[in-house]
Amino acid sequence: MSSTVTDAKAASVAPGAPVLTNYLGGRWVSSNATAHVDVYNPASGEVIARTPLGTRGDVDAAVAAAKGAFPAWRNTPVIERARAMYRFRDLLVKHHEELAAIVTREHGKTLDESRGSVQRGIEAVEVACGMPSLMMGYGLEDIARGIDCDVHRQPMGVFAAIAPFNFPAMVPLWFLPFAVATGNTFVVKPSELVPLSQRRMFELLDQSDIPPGVVNLVNGGADVVNGLCEHPDIRGVSFVGSTPVARHVYVTAAAHGKRVQSLGGAKNFVIVMPDADFDKSIPIVTESCYGCAGERCLAGSIVVSVGKGHGEVRERLAAAAKGLRVGDGSQPGITMGPVIRPSARERVLGYVEKGIAEGAELVVDGRGLTVAGREKGFFVGPSIFDKVSPNHAIGREEIFGPVLSMMNAPDLSAALALAQAHPQANAISIFTQSGKTAREFAKHAPAAMVGVNIGVAAPMSFFPFGGSKESFFGDLKAHGRDGVAFYTDQKVVIERWF
Ligand code: NAD
Repeated sequence: MSSTVTDAKAASVAPGAPVLTNYLGGRWVSSNATAHVDVYNPASGEVIARTPLGTRGDVDAAVAAAKGAFPAWRNTPVIERARAMYRFRDLLVKHHEELAAIVTREHGKTLDESRGSVQRGIEAVEVACGMPSLMMGYGLEDIARGIDCDVHRQPMGVFAAIAPFNFPAMVPLWFLPFAVATGNTFVVKPSELVPLSQRRMFELLDQSDIPPGVVNLVNGGADVVNGLCEHPDIRGVSFVGSTPVARHVYVTAAAHGKRVQSLGGAKNFVIVMPDADFDKSIPIVTESCYGCAGERCLAGSIVVSVGKGHGEVRERLAAAAKGLRVGDGSQPGITMGPVIRPSARERVLGYVEKGIAEGAELVVDGRGLTVAGREKGFFVGPSIFDKVSPNHAIGREEIFGPVLSMMNAPDLSAALALAQAHPQANAISIFTQSGKTAREFAKHAPAAMVGVNIGVAAPMSFFPFGGSKESFFGDLKAHGRDGVAFYTDQKVVIERWF
């Protein structure tokens, strides 16, 4: 989501709002940028920092630093590389609360949500601490008389990660620990809308006794992304963001001979069977749809109730949505924060208008919300539409905000057909008390991340994370064993000694 003219109308600049710098070769250096993007506290509307829109020159400097550091780092024993990750992990734990506060300040989600996301990032580092075991190859002696064969996993060189705005601390940690612990060197490009969490993260990396050049940070937008995808000295790119940009990154980086794992956007279906335990399920579904103000790639976006329970599901969801406390996520008791930018709020409200115009039934209206004391914040209330069709814009397009669409299906296969017809397939969930139904669902669910009585089917960092169809371009997914495979090449050594 790029910033638009409407974003520039937002409020005052906070005193001392910094212009971000890059971290290259172990030093903080100014960008060559001539243009900048304002970073907001979405709850107050205040400008809290400015991100330089970096240049190809910035990319070249970052990649040169990473390339220069690679030979020594790949020859550093894996247990020592893992120890660097231990030191980083301990610093992240020590600064957990501070990092969560930065995430809330630059993104807007509630402090509890920020704490959870930082915790998920820490867990990815913890998994990468096991790299001596994770990275092992395999072998067999006497594959022929006197001949042995061994497979080694080797680091490849410089990798890059490009992040979206919605999880400023966590998403780069899906990649960096795995890339670095396997022996590669790394360049991170955070979202230009939320660069402050990564700045703090790199200050902690700087304290982790990792040699200069192993990890690098470049701020910027599309020019930096394209520079990374086209750079001859980068071996692979990990991307997370919207489907059009994910496809662009996949095509561009692959055309330049790189490995690519490119995670795209989503329109996630949640199926509620008539036998579901509504008391337990509806709060989970509500959290799935409205957690992080709907700015989550695993957010429930379309609730399909199956059979006669529809009326009750709708009434319960409406009551739960109306019970959300929207406000400044840094304040206690708030259950839903603002969206990221004024342009994001306009886009979400535009979908509410489209839903009405296309004939869906507005059950809960999130328009016109103001938060006392935070009148300049980018708040949108929760909305629910019923009688949504797959042809409606709200039934088809990713809204990435607190708007829930409801559909009704006669049976499970009709509900699944709705999900199967959608081009995106990131996550999908079912709520049921029947094991047989759950098994049938899991077998035929179109998405690669599947929840059974789980609202947000987010694989932990020892499992692969990534969707299907237009939600994922590539083959090896983020973190877990896939992460180790993505960041290493397999070398087969066949040997005979005379
Ligand atoms: P985005 O695609 O606008 O931006 C992502 C990154 O791409 C940013 O770093 C941005 O600078 C860069 N970028 C933007 N436009 C570009 C262009 N034209 N050319 C080259 N680079 C460009 O996404 P966003 O708004 O930051 O994040 C929200 C999106 O990310 C949603 O679609 C969401 O579903 C998706 N997302 C997916 C996952 C997943 O696991 N699949 C996780 C988180 C977010």
